Amino acid sequence: MSIDVNSFFDADTTAARKRAVTELVDGLSGSQILAIAADVRAMIADGKEVCNLTVGDFKPSEFPVPSKLVDEINGAVERGETNYPPSDGILELREAIAEMYKRELGLDYGTGGVVVCSGARPVLYGTWRLFTNPGDKTVSFIPAWNVGYYTHLCQTDHHFIDTSPDTNFFPTVEQVKEALPGTRLMVMNSPLNPTGTVIDKEVLRGIAQAIVDENNSRGDAPPCMLMWDAVYWQLVKEDYPYYSPVQLVPEVAPYVIHIDAISKGFAATGLRVGWAVLPDYLQPKMKALIGHMGAWAARPEQIATAALLNDSEAVNTYNTWIRSEVDARLDALYDGIMAMKTKGLPVDAIEPQGAIYLSFRVNIPGQTNEAIRALLLNHAGMAVVPFQAFDLKEDSGWFRISVGAVGLSEIPPMLERLEAMISEQAGS
Ligand code: PMP
Repeated sequence: MSIDVNSFFDADTTAARKRAVTELVDGLSGSQILAIAADVRAMIADGKEVCNLTVGDFKPSEFPVPSKLVDEINGAVERGETNYPPSDGILELREAIAEMYKRELGLDYGTGGVVVCSGARPVLYGTWRLFTNPGDKTVSFIPAWNVGYYTHLCQTDHHFIDTSPDTNFFPTVEQVKEALPGTRLMVMNSPLNPTGTVIDKEVLRGIAQAIVDENNSRGDAPPCMLMWDAVYWQLVKEDYPYYSPVQLVPEVAPYVIHIDAISKGFAATGLRVGWAVLPDYLQPKMKALIGHMGAWAARPEQIATAALLNDSEAVNTYNTWIRSEVDARLDALYDGIMAMKTKGLPVDAIEPQGAIYLSFRVNIPGQTNEAIRALLLNHAGMAVVPFQAFDLKEDSGWFRISVGAVGLSEIPPMLERLEAMISEQAGS
């Protein structure tokens, strides 16, 4: 005999939930991207041909993680490495991360400047918690990945800077300067999810310098911190090298929190190893926060990540491979879309620069992005995410294409279906 627990609840579960949870949590919505992805999975289960360009994840059969990670995880579990890790990460991993930042970026933070956790999200949320009180001014730009959820959780007075395709969807130095007075936390991400673009080096230098100038003028008032979300930093095209703002303006170092992980660069989204690289005067507080959240990464995964990052040859080999695979998909899509544009069809794209994304536009006047999304899905078997899921308000026809879950051979037939569908729409 078991107790039917659910029979004790109010039949109107929505009302019961609303009464039980805080207003803050009641106002929190789930991920729109994951909701769209669930729609797509249902269509595929129904036997429809769909090219799934929605979720910012990797299909393991297309993008397996480095074999070194797998071997080292298995070995660590077998050796009994199954107890609590330290709350800021095992020393070997903090050393490996500090060493990688020194080797690859010329930034010497030491192990005292690293906090390891379960993927990038805990330190991302931790950065919001570390520097903001409810009502504090925070700033980021649109389009933005998940920023809206964090501003809601922290109840900050958030200001979004509008951007445009002309600046690859990044803000200008002037826009940032204008927004900085009174700001406690500025949030930036490059290579950018959802656009697949990389911030211009001089623009980044200007923004970093503006933060230094702003903070120098504040005296004893709290500074403006910069959350620099660089989870895609290893996935850049050759012509778009990655720079940390600290490489460009070293004086900004006291204010910068790098957010990083193995999730994207090593296609290891499910292994949950991420970290913050930050000045060591802040490290104990991030460590305390992560520890109390219980958001540390699993010990075997930490051991394996340390072994991988210390093996620069394995890192380079994997990086060359994954970049070529990602680029092949992005280039095939970009070239196909631009060929349609040349034929006069109302589509556009921004040349891919980094991450696993492509900015794709369908310009059908009078149609909302949501209507176009449904058309693409139902009539071209092309599943994409509208920029509205990244806080863009206007229906300007921009969509995110994500290539981590598709095989190269799925792309040409999908482009054919797309061309047929767009030609029909343009003609009608
Ligand atoms: N930052 C950005 C820009 C992302 O796109 C993502 C994942 N989609 C994350 C952070 C979170 O990464 P993780 O899965 O390691 O928590």
